[in-house]
Amino acid sequence: MTSIAEHAPVSLPGIPDVLSSATELIGNTPLVELRSLPRGLPGRILVKLENRNPGGSAKDRIALHMIRTAEASGELLPGATIVESSSGNTGIGLALVGRLTGHPVIIIHSGFISAEKKAVLLAYGAELVEADWEAGPDDPNNARALADRIAAQTPNAWRSSQYENAANPHAHYTTTGPEIWRQTAGTVTHFVAGIGTGGTITGTGRFLSEASDGRVRVIGADPVGSTYSGKESGTIVVDGVGTRWPRSNWPGIFDPAVPDEIRVIDDRRVYDTVRRLAAEEALLLGPSSGLAIAAAIDVATAAEPGSVVVVIAPDGGGNYLTKAFNDEWLSLAGVNADGFADGSSD
Ligand code: PMP
Repeated sequence: MTSIAEHAPVSLPGIPDVLSSATELIGNTPLVELRSLPRGLPGRILVKLENRNPGGSAKDRIALHMIRTAEASGELLPGATIVESSSGNTGIGLALVGRLTGHPVIIIHSGFISAEKKAVLLAYGAELVEADWEAGPDDPNNARALADRIAAQTPNAWRSSQYENAANPHAHYTTTGPEIWRQTAGTVTHFVAGIGTGGTITGTGRFLSEASDGRVRVIGADPVGSTYSGKESGTIVVDGVGTRWPRSNWPGIFDPAVPDEIRVIDDRRVYDTVRRLAAEEALLLGPSSGLAIAAAIDVATAAEPGSVVVVIAPDGGGNYLTKAFNDEWLSLAGVNADGFADGSSD
């Protein structure tokens, strides 16, 4: 009897549309135009829906690319354990691709992770370790340092290091950027993205700048409390974006020369935008999408008529029902939801 493994790579004769695994669902995400939020603005806003990746976020792209690149170079051996520090999405991407490529996955998180994401990580079979949220950049108990230690202590482990791994921006340079260029037939004029590791904006922004001979303007969106904008560090209440750390500790893969500007969006507007996206556009997206889309609205407001503003929506809202869509959590996080556009707190 033949095993499942022997069948896996073979396309089925006569039904070529059948994919051989969930990894083939990664990338080629749709662009959808916003109708309601930018009404009357000179620029159009096209949202790239990264929640359509199988693990639900843009991070599936880098998980696949980091694993393939490390396997090809011999850095990641067959069956080796993958260790990563992640606020959730990279962990989910790694757990998904790790499962399909035979690698156990250990995720170190700082506690600022939604209950839903934790459940998804466990469902994909990842092991979770909680680091100290308070620990600063030089503290051995911060998530990155703890991940380094766990990798060193685990036999046959590989540290994927999304903050330093060139395969992170390269995944976006070779997939997200070309997709946007193709999907807009080269008419994109502005590109907006939040900055976590900086992989999305560095890889996609660089590709679009090069493809357009510098015509595409690249805009970073930053939450309050993040130092990417050059402001003071403080509490960040938007998952997956911003850094509390000084410039000397910014991720190695983030190239600050790629964004032409970085806009700060206040927390109330982030969450109001998330609610409006669901209520008016029927797009259930995560907080970092609200951040980037609010920045895109500002860009489209100031842009020349006919501008085409492409914005990344890194993940969906389903993983934040207990946070972004929960007034009680918002008020604990210091965000006043009274009078939000969807009327939910009336
Ligand atoms: N939004 C969410 C929800 C994320 O998890 C991340 C990644 N940390 C980002 C945005 C930012 O993407 P990048 O790391 O590529 O800058």
